[in-house]
Amino acid sequence: MAAKNWETNEEIEYFREYLRIPTVHPNPDYEPCVEFLKRQAEDLDLPVKVYYPLDKKNPVVVLSWEGTEREWPSILLNSHMDVVPVFPENWTHPPFGADIDEEGRIFARGSQDMKCVGVQYLAAIRSLKAKGLRFKRTIHISFVPDEELGGRKGMMPFVSSEEFKALNIGFSLDEGIASPTSEFPVFYAERTLKGVIFRISGSAGHGLLLMPNTAGEKLSYITSKMMELRASQQKRLKDNPELQIGDVTTINLTIVNGGVQSNVVPPLLTVVFEVRLSLDHKVSDFKVYLENLCEEAGGDIEFEFTSNRRSEHTAPTVTDESNPFWVAFKSATDELGLKTKLQVFPGGTDSRYIREIGIPALGFSPINNTPVLLHDHDEFLHAERYLKGVEIYKKIIENLANVEN
Ligand SMILES: [Zn+2]
Repeated sequence: MAAKNWETNEEIEYFREYLRIPTVHPNPDYEPCVEFLKRQAEDLDLPVKVYYPLDKKNPVVVLSWEGTEREWPSILLNSHMDVVPVFPENWTHPPFGADIDEEGRIFARGSQDMKCVGVQYLAAIRSLKAKGLRFKRTIHISFVPDEELGGRKGMMPFVSSEEFKALNIGFSLDEGIASPTSEFPVFYAERTLKGVIFRISGSAGHGLLLMPNTAGEKLSYITSKMMELRASQQKRLKDNPELQIGDVTTINLTIVNGGVQSNVVPPLLTVVFEVRLSLDHKVSDFKVYLENLCEEAGGDIEFEFTSNRRSEHTAPTVTDESNPFWVAFKSATDELGLKTKLQVFPGGTDSRYIREIGIPALGFSPINNTPVLLHDHDEFLHAERYLKGVEIYKKIIENLANVEN
């Protein structure tokens, strides 16, 4: 009975239609998505532009709703069109079927991450426009490719394009993560990815000797020290229940390479650690730590960062009275009676490219009381939760777009 109501809801229909477009890695075809969004633009009576900051296979679609103060910096509502791969045999519903069950749960890859958010922005604007409202600041709703692979074909080239500059963006909203409790996390920063590869040289020879300065001994020293650092961060997390994973540095040994055969001591071993530095862990300090580590281990060791884009942290988005967009966002969620919690995003999103060029950005998905299923099997979002999210965005968008200049 109830399911029938959801199935005839126009916004739920649009959401399901968008979910059925399989923009899935490794080879997503975005054209059907572009067509869907063009139809949305037509329905909303909004101008739409398609940009290709890298190549023809990777479109960026931008719908725009002009404000009354055209010169004022605009609001960007961003989402990514791509989704991560699926293992259909582990799903109880087809991953691109957007089935809705008795309870009202809509199953599809992208239902949480993050096709929901993209069409919720559009649903909110459809409703606001239907009321005859118009706001001060122009609102741009962008749909980008390639976020799940790091944004190198999407947001990264887009932010450095002339077309992006012309949008004159003053504030950006992007994805957060679902929350299993009633609380909504709001992300104001991201950790800094600093994977490190050590190339460890040492004396080589026959495996029956006890030569000094072998690569194996040095590898052992480096690994033990990196694991000590890891343990110290585990302890920080354990000792302070207030801390989230995004508040500490994470370290994991991910690749070890080298060797020829068991009785030959190799001249070279390499080891890779995946490292994400917390905001209070300075990149320059970490670099000095690694330099000293190489010396202590016996020298003849080179190290290199696997992700070398930034020499220091990207500044977090300011979340106090001095940032009027934060004030506007917070007053919207307060007015709606939502419990929010500021957090550092544990992974990486397209917001980092926005913050890097000095534009404030918040990560927020209006999904609470829902199991966190991004990148997981049977990803779903409840229809009711989806529609509530649209209501939440209506208030947030109105507040942001009316921030005084
Ligand atoms: Zn995402």
